[in-house]
Amino acid sequence: MLSSFAAWSADKCAVEITSTDQMTFDSKLISIPKSCSSFTVTLLHSGEMPKEVMGHNWVLTRAADMQAVAQDGWSAGIANGYLKKNDTRVIAHTKLIGGGERDSITIDTSKLETGEKYHFFCSVPAHLSVMKGELTFGV
Ligand code: ZN
Repeated sequence: MLSSFAAWSADKCAVEITSTDQMTFDSKLISIPKSCSSFTVTLLHSGEMPKEVMGHNWVLTRAADMQAVAQDGWSAGIANGYLKKNDTRVIAHTKLIGGGERDSITIDTSKLETGEKYHFFCSVPAHLSVMKGELTFGV
């Protein structure tokens, strides 16, 4: 098991992103190599505040969809993890987590296009202005 984990890690088809009580992600750019058929994102929350106060999620959309998805998420409220139910514009997302928690998701890269601009962000109200970054595939 250990050796297969090491091989998987070396392939860079995974990333860990840390979020904080200071409303930050420690990554602003994620590049997924074309060789990855899937890509795993693990979101950590290194803070102490509960998700009702300083919760974070990690949401992936096309760059053009980010603002509208975030606004619909704010309307959906915390009970829905600040995402509209079954929002087809959302390519992948973690659940909403609070301090000390983590969540992982795996993206099927066949859903991504080379050269398309993607954004990842936190859909909690008012977090978008600072908690966002760019994601590219195969470039
Ligand atoms: Zn956030």
